[in-house]
Amino acid sequence: MLQPSAAARMPVPALLRRFVLIYLSAAIVLTVAIFLSIRFDVQDRINNAKVREAARVDTAKNLVARDFSTVTSDLRLLASTPSLRRFLDHGGEERFDELANLFLELCRISGNYDQVRYLDTSGREIVRVNFNEGSPAIVPRSQLQDKSGRYFFRDSIKLDRNEIFVSPLDLNIEHDQLELPYKPMIRFGMPVFDGAGHKRGVILLNYFGGELLQHFRDVMRGGDRRRGMLLNRDGYWLSSAKQDEEWGFMLGKPELRFGKKYPDVWNAISTGDSGALQTDAGLFVYSTVYPLQPGQRSSTGSPLPRSPSKHELSAREYYWKIVSFTPYATFTEAAEINEVGRDILYGVAYLLLAFGSLAIAFFSLSRKQARVRMEEEEARLREIAVTMSDGLLVADLEGKITFANPEACRLLGYSENELLGKDMHGTLHVHGDGKQKEKHECSMLRVARTGETYRAVEEIFRCKNGQLLPISVSVSAIIREQQAAGIVVAFHDITERKKFEQELERRAQIDALTSLNNRRHFYELAEQEILRTKRYGKPLALMMLDVDHFKDINDTYGHHVGDTVLQTLGAVCLQTMREIDIIGRLGGEEFAILLPEATAAQAFDAAERLRLAVAAIAMPLEQGQTLSFTISIGVTGLVAKDSDIADMLKRADEAMYQAKRSGRNRVCSQE
Ligand code: GH3
Ligand code: MG
Ligand code: MG
Repeated sequence: MLQPSAAARMPVPALLRRFVLIYLSAAIVLTVAIFLSIRFDVQDRINNAKVREAARVDTAKNLVARDFSTVTSDLRLLASTPSLRRFLDHGGEERFDELANLFLELCRISGNYDQVRYLDTSGREIVRVNFNEGSPAIVPRSQLQDKSGRYFFRDSIKLDRNEIFVSPLDLNIEHDQLELPYKPMIRFGMPVFDGAGHKRGVILLNYFGGELLQHFRDVMRGGDRRRGMLLNRDGYWLSSAKQDEEWGFMLGKPELRFGKKYPDVWNAISTGDSGALQTDAGLFVYSTVYPLQPGQRSSTGSPLPRSPSKHELSAREYYWKIVSFTPYATFTEAAEINEVGRDILYGVAYLLLAFGSLAIAFFSLSRKQARVRMEEEEARLREIAVTMSDGLLVADLEGKITFANPEACRLLGYSENELLGKDMHGTLHVHGDGKQKEKHECSMLRVARTGETYRAVEEIFRCKNGQLLPISVSVSAIIREQQAAGIVVAFHDITERKKFEQELERRAQIDALTSLNNRRHFYELAEQEILRTKRYGKPLALMMLDVDHFKDINDTYGHHVGDTVLQTLGAVCLQTMREIDIIGRLGGEEFAILLPEATAAQAFDAAERLRLAVAAIAMPLEQGQTLSFTISIGVTGLVAKDSDIADMLKRADEAMYQAKRSGRNRVCSQE
């Protein structure tokens, strides 16, 4: 689903760029697909047209053949009619009329002939009937012409019995002029013989080529835009969609030929019997029609009124070409404009493509943006991690280190690569009590399970060189998709702080003047010693000592000399007593010494040694003088009823006062 926030943040120019890019590529693919489909569609139409046009051409061919055979049978009938025989054998007005009327009947009934004639052997018209545009009439003798110069007469009179001459299809010439409007004509001629077997002339039928051409066009123009052409053997149009292309050979215009317009196509058509040709111009489907039957002859004919045929033609040489031509545009236009439904379909397809492209652009861009944001975030975090003064370790749920910042590496003495993949708990973590804990007990790793942040002011990591690094640490869980994914450990070195604390502690335990244990710390140590002594059943002794007439020393030599006396006494105590003895300044010029594992008697001896040592001191003063002083010591041993150091101190104090009372500079003990 589109989130409004994501949509709001989407940069429109980037989205548009992406959309345009995706849409254009997809549209190109779609267009190519449509183009190909149209191409296939066009080819399909062409293939269909080939079949259809071939059938049409065939029909036209049959039609021409049928028309020809009708004429030749009419001609044969006339040539063998008794009326003609009688006229040839006997002549006479009556027989002439009989023959002329027969011609007239034929002309009227068939309607196919412009002229029906009989010419004698010299080429003169003897009997002639004109169609007269539907009102046939016998031509008066005065208007009969001499046709001896015309090729059709010459070509017909040469023939033998039963042979038929068929002229080329050309235009009628009347009185040596092309008859207007054009009258297409085919002349069928046949020699006639009298009873004695002498050739007496020819019968000529001027067949209306217009009729034949009209039949042809009716068949060929069965559909719109289709162009049927009838070509003679030289490629002149006998019938064409364009009327002004026709009859070039009659008009002396050799440029009006199919071969001039479509040379390649004519090459194929003139040499092939039938077939189909697909060119850039369109589809040509053609066939050859041979209208003459065996025994019929023709000639090249002649457009000129008085020139002979160039040469004769046999039935196989007399042919026409029927050509159906469908311009290429017909197929493409049909394919393109044909179905409005398909246009709408294309429109919808492009529209859907646009929507799809927009959706893809939107989602891919928002994904990219999210990725960029995440990368920025990561880079920022990394920058922080790199520059921060804390050591930073990231570990997975198993405790394997997946990230270490430079400070962590510096503190621990490892390189980043050495740290990555290491088990944090096993390699680094030293628990405070010195015992290695199981992983599940580890307070840091537990954070990954509980999700609760763990903070400790003092933990220990082991460095690469084995040194222990005191650290303060804060451990937080990494939560991804509401699931703990690991932990982040931020830590810093607390060595300096530790030293400082230790110094503070030391200072809190030590008397500043004498560097002996102060009262409080002496009490603490003494309590521990008593506990230990009681546990192991060993003896323990305590002595308390006090400088004799110290007030006088202060008063006589000054307070600073009193301080020196106290320092000197402390030093002598340290020298004289054993290492394990615990010496403290309880206050003023009063000291206490605890002697572990010493009986009261042993302590008494030690006190005596100390007293003598102190008494032997000759402390140098200004101007060569020396100062000597003494101490009084009270000694006691630990007894079963003692519960703490106070009990012992009390007895030692009493013993010390006893020493004071009995003259000072001596040792007294109290059981
Ligand atoms: P006695 O033989 O009975 O112990 O006589 P005394 O003079 O030693 O007795 P007292 O305990 O009355 O005197 C202790 C004096 O020690 C009083 C005080 O001014 C002095 N004093 C206490 N602490 C210090 C110190 O740190 N330095 C110096 N110079 N004098 C101190
Ligand atoms: Mg004193
Ligand atoms: Mg005193």
